[in-house]
Amino acid sequence: MKNRIFQLVILLLVIQLIGCKTEPKITSVDIAIINGNIIDGTGAKDYKSNIYIKGDSIVYIGKIESPDLKIGKIIDAKGKFVSPGFIDLHAHGNPLRTPDFENFLAMGVTSIVLGQDGSSPKVQDLKTYLNSVNQQNLGVNIIEFVGHGTLRNLAGIGIKSKISATELESLKSILQEQLKFSFGLSTGLEYAPGLYAEESELIELAKIVGEQDKIIMSHMRNEDDDELKKSIDELAKQGKYTRVHIAHLKSVFGKGAQRANQILDNIKQIRKSGVQLTADVYPYMASYTGISIVFPDWSKTTKQFTVAKRNRKTELETFIRNKVNLRNGPEATLLASAPYTGKTLAEAAASKNKPFEKFLVEDVGPQGTSAAYFVMNKELQETLLQDDLVGICSDGSKTGFHPRGHGTFAKIIENYVIKGSLLSLEKAVQKMTSYPAEILQLKDRGLLKIGKKADIIIFNPINVKATATYVNPHQLATGFDMVLVNGKLVRENEQLKTSLSGKVLLPE
Ligand SMILES: [Zn+2]
Repeated sequence: MKNRIFQLVILLLVIQLIGCKTEPKITSVDIAIINGNIIDGTGAKDYKSNIYIKGDSIVYIGKIESPDLKIGKIIDAKGKFVSPGFIDLHAHGNPLRTPDFENFLAMGVTSIVLGQDGSSPKVQDLKTYLNSVNQQNLGVNIIEFVGHGTLRNLAGIGIKSKISATELESLKSILQEQLKFSFGLSTGLEYAPGLYAEESELIELAKIVGEQDKIIMSHMRNEDDDELKKSIDELAKQGKYTRVHIAHLKSVFGKGAQRANQILDNIKQIRKSGVQLTADVYPYMASYTGISIVFPDWSKTTKQFTVAKRNRKTELETFIRNKVNLRNGPEATLLASAPYTGKTLAEAAASKNKPFEKFLVEDVGPQGTSAAYFVMNKELQETLLQDDLVGICSDGSKTGFHPRGHGTFAKIIENYVIKGSLLSLEKAVQKMTSYPAEILQLKDRGLLKIGKKADIIIFNPINVKATATYVNPHQLATGFDMVLVNGKLVRENEQLKTSLSGKVLLPE
């Protein structure tokens, strides 16, 4: 009985506390977003409320009744959804050259991760570089990673495989310094010079990343279906020392939902052993990268290629022919650099009257073009995409010749929420906001909560369209009516403002 009374007293106290939740003492705000359906980013169902913004932060969610409240600007979001801006886990681009990054803003993205695939700006002094980025008229927030390949170049190691103790020390000390201003290390083990790194080197670097409680994001060694497990296991070994993340998870020429579930089960087994392993995908069935991806390891750099072409031409051509055929053939390779832009490899080779492998060796070379490769299976990739462990990335840029750079986040809403019903809107938003924030340990973004930074988008999901195509990849997405970055409205009704408000984010 006594216990009962005690419970009752506690209950009454709680009720009183909730009842006492009076209006905050806020006398003025810069922006009030009223009447919107709020999707807070946690995955919880939407609810109707108002959001009040002062400076770069959300200061209140609810309704402030006080007639004395001064409001700088009222945005009526009636009939629309209000959510945190999306966070792109893996993007590309040069913020000194294309700082507005409107392609991202137009698809609802307010923060992007750069320095991916092992390649970050080749500067010793990352702090000064990031300061100059911060002075640009930035459209989105920039989250920088340190590239492992860049570290190797900075340390003068390049494509050497066995490195000396002194060289390792040099890698470690540059990493240690640059991690102070970045969120983790990226590796690109399918590219030179990253592919030359031995396991021991990667483990030593993982220890440094772990000491600073950061993450390794990896374009893994090989994404071919029969090599995928080996690649994931290699990353998992580094995961004993730090958090690890699979960039743009895919199976090149794997097929079906069952195969996707095997891949996901492998990841879950690894997580059970205590490794904090996560992943992201982009919603397109073609990958996009330099043509060197179909060249053998011994001919990927220009220097190696010159030697290979002279001494091992037949072997080189045979390798390329087999590799391209495994990747669905020359008809499934869409070239993306002048003068071959928009032609398939089959068409371009035919125009020169050559077999495609000869054309690639004699007319193009490993550094000669980028291309889209139609190597993925829809059922497999869509099964990966729906899993809770998998976040979303574009892997795109403002200038790349692949629709993902302008379409990804709009396509998730258009294809998987509205048309396909594979994800609820709340779930999709969570995958693109609080989940990436958690992976990056970005504590003040990714949620609509009091005290968080005001990166906010307002939209009606029915109107969201990814209009970029493989033929016209630079068409902006539509339907995100308002985009706010750090409390400033920077894009409204498909129009970019002149003064933008993105900034370089620093780790805490
Ligand atoms: Zn990559």
